[in-house]
Amino acid sequence: MTKPTIAIVGRANVGKSTIFNRIVGERVSIVEDTPGVTRDRIYSSGEWLTHEFNIIDTGGIELGDEPFQEQIRAQAEIAIEEADVIIFMVNGRDGITNEDDFVAKLLFKSSKPVVLGVNKIDNPEMRADIYEFYSLGFGEPFPISGSHGLGIGDLLDEAAKHFPEQQEEDYDDVIKFSLIGRPNVGKSSLINAILGEERVIVSPVAGTTRDAIDTVYTFENQEYVMIDTAGMRKKGKVYEATERYSVLRALKAIERSNVVLVVIDAEEGIIEQDKKIAGYAHEAGKAIVIVVNKWDTVEKDSKTMKKFEDKVRENFQFLDYAPIAFVSAKERKRLNTLFPLINMAGENHRKRVQSSTLNEVITDAVAMNPTPTHKGSRLNIFYTTQVAIEPPTFVFFVNDVEMMHFSYQRFLENRIRAAFGFEGTPLHLIARKRN
Ligand code: GDP
Ligand code: GDP
Repeated sequence: MTKPTIAIVGRANVGKSTIFNRIVGERVSIVEDTPGVTRDRIYSSGEWLTHEFNIIDTGGIELGDEPFQEQIRAQAEIAIEEADVIIFMVNGRDGITNEDDFVAKLLFKSSKPVVLGVNKIDNPEMRADIYEFYSLGFGEPFPISGSHGLGIGDLLDEAAKHFPEQQEEDYDDVIKFSLIGRPNVGKSSLINAILGEERVIVSPVAGTTRDAIDTVYTFENQEYVMIDTAGMRKKGKVYEATERYSVLRALKAIERSNVVLVVIDAEEGIIEQDKKIAGYAHEAGKAIVIVVNKWDTVEKDSKTMKKFEDKVRENFQFLDYAPIAFVSAKERKRLNTLFPLINMAGENHRKRVQSSTLNEVITDAVAMNPTPTHKGSRLNIFYTTQVAIEPPTFVFFVNDVEMMHFSYQRFLENRIRAAFGFEGTPLHLIARKRN
């Protein structure tokens, strides 16, 4: 299922991020103990009654020192492109300002549904202040108070009325992959090279969200769905170069993929932003292939690839399970090395192992490297079982959760990997107390 997306738009200081945090806040604390859910401040998921949705705070996407009008124009465009429903926020204490009018004009031009939230209505006596906002032309204004958490349910009820009808995603049993990476590493070139290379493109089909273009793609008799968030192939908007926006795009693509190709640029090398973007895919528990693009630009001898690989490993220590492909989108070289890795990562991401074998592996591991002790007692692992796939998730039933140290858990993970070969996928290990 593709979750609908809400975007919050409005001039500065009306309370966008306050409302955003209110809406995602509880959920964020619920999932806190699940490694794998670090959320960017501008993009998160929320729930209201039976609805699950994603939400974007466009105010968090700033364009350096562009003037206000350019900032807000870009933010409104992002909302219009990315969202199914837009929450237009104004400040009930200020009345309608010129800046609000400016935002209203931008939103008017789009066909996306807009729900008007009048914030800072902190008590019922202030409700009379909202009526003037009818004149913005977006229908009924909804009084809310971000500080006090008032009216947000009604606002979300209204937003949910405009959610597109949910459809089951069709391609549940094929691998869905996406390419993520900072601007200019060559993602669009790679997409075009992959598609151009293959003669058997089935058809580009519109995804279930309006702005995702999924391409069904067949390679060696196997079907794949390539997730391309809108605009990956069309270019040129100012905001597309901003880091925040590329993160937003990456998060949307990651969410819908099984396998994420983390693209880096061999010419420019690895920078902090690459690690950050890769970190999102890792934390989301997706299968990962690292793709070193622009390999044509590197002068090579017999050791070059190994050296570059070492550099990748050093920079992406948290991705030690991810295979690496070296390609050139421009020269269409080595692209055939990509799909075997995607398959492997995708299959391992869905792999289940038998409990009996798993417990033998753990027993052997403990015999080889005894469990840690603390104040005279020892960690005891009673039983281990795989409880989930995508990513493979293992629960260890133990006498004392505190004693499952990170380093010992890491050791167990390595033993599981050595025994079952989970290349390409993160593993999720959980210790649980058994009484
Ligand atoms: P943004 O720039 O639109 O994201 O606005 P912020 O969420 O950063 O809020 C701007 C200021 O308004 C902050 O000082 C908030 O504490 C304040 N604020 C936000 N919501 C409310 C509200 O419901 N009532 C009042 N009185 N202040 C609020
Ligand atoms: P994106 O922003 O990640 O989608 O990157 P693009 O696909 O737009 O590529 C950015 C620039 O890198 C363009 O000028 C491409 O021509 C260039 N580029 C992409 N792939 C390669 C490659 O394999 N080798 C070389 N030399 N240049 C490439």
